[in-house]
Amino acid sequence: MPALLNRSLVIHPYLVDHASGSYLHLADGRSILDACGGAAVAVIGHGNAEVIAATAAQMQRTSYIHTGAYTTTAAEDLAKFVLECTTAVNGKGIQFTHGLKRAFFVGSGSEANESALKIARQYFFEKGELQRQHYVSRRQAYHGNTFGSMSISSVVGRRIPYEGVLLPNISFVDPAFEYHYRRDNETEEEYAERLVRELEEHFLEIGPEKIISFIAEPVVGATSGCVTAPKGYFSGVRSLCDKYGILLHFDEVLCGMGRTGSYFAFEQEDGGVLPDIVTIGKGLGGGYVPIAAMLVNDRIVDTLRRGSSVFNHGHTFQAHPTACSAALAVQKIIRREGLVSRCGDMGIKLGQCLRAEFGHRQYVGDIRGRGLLWALEFVKDKKTKTPFEASIGFGAQIHQAAFDLGVAVYPCVGTVDGVVGDHILLAPPFNISEIELDIMVSTLRRAYH
Ligand code: PLP
Repeated sequence: MPALLNRSLVIHPYLVDHASGSYLHLADGRSILDACGGAAVAVIGHGNAEVIAATAAQMQRTSYIHTGAYTTTAAEDLAKFVLECTTAVNGKGIQFTHGLKRAFFVGSGSEANESALKIARQYFFEKGELQRQHYVSRRQAYHGNTFGSMSISSVVGRRIPYEGVLLPNISFVDPAFEYHYRRDNETEEEYAERLVRELEEHFLEIGPEKIISFIAEPVVGATSGCVTAPKGYFSGVRSLCDKYGILLHFDEVLCGMGRTGSYFAFEQEDGGVLPDIVTIGKGLGGGYVPIAAMLVNDRIVDTLRRGSSVFNHGHTFQAHPTACSAALAVQKIIRREGLVSRCGDMGIKLGQCLRAEFGHRQYVGDIRGRGLLWALEFVKDKKTKTPFEASIGFGAQIHQAAFDLGVAVYPCVGTVDGVVGDHILLAPPFNISEIELDIMVSTLRRAYH
């Protein structure tokens, strides 16, 4: 009987003995190519000696402080580093300024989103707009597992036991998902315009003066599998938020920190869409330590400063020096080795290989990706895009078959609204070798057969 309480109380997880580079080495002797970086986390692979040394050195210097009264060079340096992380799109020299001015470090993406929900409300509290008590999110969104972050998520299966006790005053609009929802007679631009129109109608129905923020993943990761927005959608969303004074919060916990080939996924949106709040997580510390962050712009910082001058939120372990130091070491390696632009280049190669191997397969409905985040979506009928019955779990079968052949891919988190969700997600380390990439694709081909 295991002592550890895991998500599954019936399936015993595989015991990992150690991990190095792109591989997990199991206690039973098998080696598994980690083609999803755990949960899109291990951005520089496992066991990096430089990160381990920096973490140990920080532990010796200062392992813990309480942020009520103190700060550390590790936390300050990481904040500065992350806030500078936006300069070029795809490493191709296009200058980009995001306007994010302060970083708040926590232990998980869920906590980062909790912090974002609270700071957004406090922003309006300080402005005296107390009637703003409503958040708008999107269907098929996953933003975390704590009460607040789950309340803005719409992964139906996960919410069921808690319906009735999740936060009220949250509503959901349709996601931007061309493969399933763009009508046959619509161009990409027309689809984006329709979504923005529908969002405005929703805002007006709620009463825009009551809305705190609109929350979205620029590239949807785990729920529907690497879904990018049609051109013009996010700039339309930004204009709407400006029109009604609503804050725009991008959840980049999965797609941020280089995963899509730019430091922030939103850098690749047309028209320079600038959010008020961004949350990041997974790739920030690359899995060496639990760390995530909320980044906010001047508008929020200045308003809180002019008001109570405190952010009414704190955690014992926030801005933990050991965690900040490990994350900074990870980020310095990424910058020094040009891994964000490598992520973009390797992503192009991965996309070509996936299309060549799977484009003609009977049950592969869509192959989509950006940077080193790719998904294969499975359908029973390609023409009608009809999904398999949930009980079949085609993606889960591929996941298991690939694992048995030595490659770990990320399965979907469960059918999100009975329509979509049958996919596998690939999110390998940014420094995966070309040979490992080939092994990944050829193993998936064998798993599909
Ligand atoms: N937001 C997004 C987009 C995520 O993908 C996740 C985790 O998968 C979270 C938030 C929650 O992060 P965590 O699991 O670190 O709490």
